[in-house]
Amino acid sequence: MGKIIKVSGPLVVADGLADAGMADVVKVGAQGLKGEILTMTGDTASIQVYEETAGLGPGAEVYTTGAPLSVELGPGMLENIYDGIQRPLTEIRAIAGETIARGIDIPALNREKKWHFVPVKQAGDRISGGDIIGTVEETSALTHRIMVPHGVVGTLKSITEGDFTVTDTVAVAELERGGERALTMMQTWPVRIGRPYKQKFLPDTPMQSGQRVIDTLFPIAKGGTAAVPGPFGSGKTVVQHALAKWSDVDVVVYIGCGERGNEMTDVLMEFPELQDPRTGEPLMKRTVLIANTSDMPVAAREASIYTGITIAEYFRDMGYDVAVIADSTSRWAEALREMSGRLEEMPGEEGYPAYLASRLAQFYERAGCVQCLSSEVRRGSLTAIGAVSPPGGDTSEPVSQATLRIVKVFWGLDSGLAHARHFPAINWLNSYSLYMDNLRGWFEKNLGRSFLENRAKAVAILQQESELQEIVKLVGQDSLSPADRLTMETAKMIREDYLQQNAFVDIDNYSSYDRQSILLDIILQYDAQCRRAIAGGADLGKLISIEVRDRIGRAKSVPEEEYPTAYSAIAADMAEQIKEAAQHD
Ligand code: ADP
Repeated sequence: MGKIIKVSGPLVVADGLADAGMADVVKVGAQGLKGEILTMTGDTASIQVYEETAGLGPGAEVYTTGAPLSVELGPGMLENIYDGIQRPLTEIRAIAGETIARGIDIPALNREKKWHFVPVKQAGDRISGGDIIGTVEETSALTHRIMVPHGVVGTLKSITEGDFTVTDTVAVAELERGGERALTMMQTWPVRIGRPYKQKFLPDTPMQSGQRVIDTLFPIAKGGTAAVPGPFGSGKTVVQHALAKWSDVDVVVYIGCGERGNEMTDVLMEFPELQDPRTGEPLMKRTVLIANTSDMPVAAREASIYTGITIAEYFRDMGYDVAVIADSTSRWAEALREMSGRLEEMPGEEGYPAYLASRLAQFYERAGCVQCLSSEVRRGSLTAIGAVSPPGGDTSEPVSQATLRIVKVFWGLDSGLAHARHFPAINWLNSYSLYMDNLRGWFEKNLGRSFLENRAKAVAILQQESELQEIVKLVGQDSLSPADRLTMETAKMIREDYLQQNAFVDIDNYSSYDRQSILLDIILQYDAQCRRAIAGGADLGKLISIEVRDRIGRAKSVPEEEYPTAYSAIAADMAEQIKEAAQHD
């Protein structure tokens, strides 16, 4: 048992802790506040406390639990809202009211609730860590696969179907190294250590988000990493909600490191209301929410991204596609900076600790497409997406810079575009995806070679537009050749008829890859046919005012079941009308 010698906000220094290890979870003071050892010198430990430390003083007792900060993994996580150290907020609120009372110790997984366990293995089967022994229909959206904890190798002696709590024994294993082990539906895992897998693969399948600017121009692979930096009001929240709603993943873990208290409350209020567009059921049925408002202690915010990604890894290990969305990593980095300051560490750039970049890397490194640890062959993926909110939108600051060196996709939100009501305000000139090479095979197989060619053309036209705009600024529109003016016209179509997508319009908020590829092709066909006509002496003005242009503009609002017919009609009429407009009088 140790004793406190100093308290500085969330940091407590205690001595007499010779029996404690680095990273141990400790109980501090009479209320048993939860904390974690950050550094140890001799028997003196610096502890970050996850709860408000007011009232603590020198002399108060500190105990080590002898275990690192861990999460409970098992049925009951979906639909739940946790804080940064996996305390179930809804249950705590029911007991303690709006503000979280200190020292409350409610387990993360409900101990009374019974789940119907259906074995998929039988007595006599060999088992080892990661093998699936049975399933639980956790929600209507997801079957929870119960896995053998890591390190267990042996033979099943018994396994029972029935209704059990997470701590009841569902199976007994005779261990290879001797003895028996009762298996339950729950396991624990230390949050700061990545869960093991057999092998990592290069991601080769896109995560389909249904957002045209993302899927077509800057796709992210399942198992990939992306950052969404953007100033306040540029649409970060809307983009992240769209990703959580529409991405073709099985589970979403949403980590909210609150901007300000009330903003996080918005997420807490809004998220449970969101519907899963595919099933019509609440989105929460496949979501785990981790919430930290800025009025919660900073240390819990620091822990939240590890808690979130560990839960995500656990679902990945079942063989699911999982996405982690962290909003925002800037607030997380500020928590890191505050703790570092109190530890009196040498500050790096803008006061952030020198290990900021390596901590960020440790988070994103846990993403990936893996072969799961199991004697069966099973693949899962974990995609990590982090929002960054640089002060004033200036991405030269340390958190943005460190993030950009790690992630492979950059969706740069632009206040200028948001101001002009171009949404999603992802700037097509500075955003990028480094997954294009990995995804080439998937695109060619599923969308044909023309999709990649069209994508390259669209990117080139948008770039030419920005160069032409410079010229127009200097010498005016009239100086442009008809071919250049057509380029400007096509770029406008790409921006307005294709990239702009209204998240609040039912038909427009999601676009399948097939639909995206046909619509882009129509726009580029228009460009190609007009270009030929101009070369033959046709008048650009006439070509621009053909009737079908209007229909292209409205093509994104055609109902999903009608687009194949509607789009072929547009393509046919377009060819006809261009031919007519190109005829000399
Ligand atoms: P941030 O989280 O970056 O502060 P928000 O995500 O709250 O910004 O977006 C600000 C506003 O921009 C929204 O309230 C909405 O009106 C508009 N907006 C953002 N994205 C879209 C979109 N895809 N479609 C339509 N409106 C959007």
